[in-house]
Amino acid sequence: MDIRLVAEGPWRFRIERTGAMRVPGVVLAPRELLPDEPGDEALAQVAHVATLPGIVRASYAMPDIHWGYGFPIGGVAATDVGRGGVVSPGGVGFDISCGVRLLTAHVDRAALLRKLPVLMDRLDGLIPRGLGRGGLWHLAGRAQLHEILRGGARYAVEQGHGVPRDLDRCEDGGAVGDADTTWIGERALERGAGQVGSLGSANHFLEVQAVDAVYDEACARAFGLRPGLVCVMIHCGSRGLGHQICADHVRAMDSVMRRYGIDVPDPQLACAPVDSPEGRAYLGAMAAAANFARANRQLLADAARGVFRETTGTGLDLLYDVSHNLAKLERHADDGAARPLLCVHRKGATRALPPGHPGLPDGLRPFGQPVFVPGTMGTASYVMTGTIGNRAFDSCCHGAGRVWSRHRAHREMPAHRLRQELAGTGVAVRPVSWRSVTEEAPEAYKDVDAVVRASEHNDLGRLVARLVPLGVLKG
Ligand code: 5GP
Ligand code: MN
Ligand code: MN
Repeated sequence: MDIRLVAEGPWRFRIERTGAMRVPGVVLAPRELLPDEPGDEALAQVAHVATLPGIVRASYAMPDIHWGYGFPIGGVAATDVGRGGVVSPGGVGFDISCGVRLLTAHVDRAALLRKLPVLMDRLDGLIPRGLGRGGLWHLAGRAQLHEILRGGARYAVEQGHGVPRDLDRCEDGGAVGDADTTWIGERALERGAGQVGSLGSANHFLEVQAVDAVYDEACARAFGLRPGLVCVMIHCGSRGLGHQICADHVRAMDSVMRRYGIDVPDPQLACAPVDSPEGRAYLGAMAAAANFARANRQLLADAARGVFRETTGTGLDLLYDVSHNLAKLERHADDGAARPLLCVHRKGATRALPPGHPGLPDGLRPFGQPVFVPGTMGTASYVMTGTIGNRAFDSCCHGAGRVWSRHRAHREMPAHRLRQELAGTGVAVRPVSWRSVTEEAPEAYKDVDAVVRASEHNDLGRLVARLVPLGVLKG
């Protein structure tokens, strides 16, 4: 497909409608953040997504956009359910409901530093990560896995893995409704059963951080953040379970698409009408995987709490938990009186509810939803908040975004050099193996400072605080 990229000022580009595109593409990034490796298909993917049946407004790309499966990572697209709008598993991604939660500690950086090595060693010994290393929760059997798939973090808290206040600070109260385990295959269940409470591989992490700068005092105070405060950021998703569900439903949709008269420019965009047996089956299974991911992050947070209590004698409070790989049925006020039901795909994009939104807990409502933007293990990460002016269906960036392919990272960053480089930063990194994290080198990612700046200029979110890493547990 031929891409016609038109600059709309210094902070964004439009991809003109051509061919089968039903809406334009809107890339909310300045030129220096555009994917530009030779052969990179991310911008073509933005255009491909614009051909999906029922898509409304535009096919959006966040400033951290990079090449993904079917949809770009950093892609946002909404389809009108009542007008044949489709749902596409590739628009959610393989790690269904991958997301971030941030917890605030009761201790400051200066007071923690002496204990940091012990704290990191304890976490290192406790948290399962890497491929196939088991999970923290040894389930009583399949029935309990089904409870997790239906009850998410809520079930985990009921079982003693957390406190009720945690649920107030989870998207959807910790559990998505409409989970339907009927549409989860045996292989997916098998893969998930041993992985509740595990980080997964390289890009996932548990990071001890400190607040380094505050940009909005009032908002930071409401979020429980102040300069010097220690935080814990957890990034992980639905592990093998979500991956298998995505693969199974892509295959199922691929075989029925034609029957619905759907033609897509890339088989990875396999989709079905939201209002079809296949669409509903996927959404039911996806919701169950989302619950798995929330329970997973709940378990990891609970374990981190235990380690903090032992090492520092203090606790951790959950600021918020939000996923960045999910499709949701939503209505948006800026669609006028009609407010049609939309299926909003956010893939590598964080939902960012504006101040005053009824979906926010009381303590956060006046300030908007916390949005977490991890950078890399050697650079900063950011906390932002939702804005009223967001036109991308209340979505914001979800990270720095990859610039190097995993392949290129392995080629350009030998393990010993990465190790040396990070030793110089003073960050206590605890990887499963150094080889496994070379693709996670800071150089492999875009400049997170530029990504959050672009997000702010495009009114996707507002900056609240900057966090710097003290210790990182990598998958
Ligand atoms: P993804 O969900 O796309 O795999 O990752 C989200 C973002 O996490 C990436 O774009 C990257 O910026 C960030 N990230 C990856 N590894 C780390 C890490 O070890 N620490 C921090 N703070 N961020 C990371
Ligand atoms: Mn993930
Ligand atoms: Mn993720």
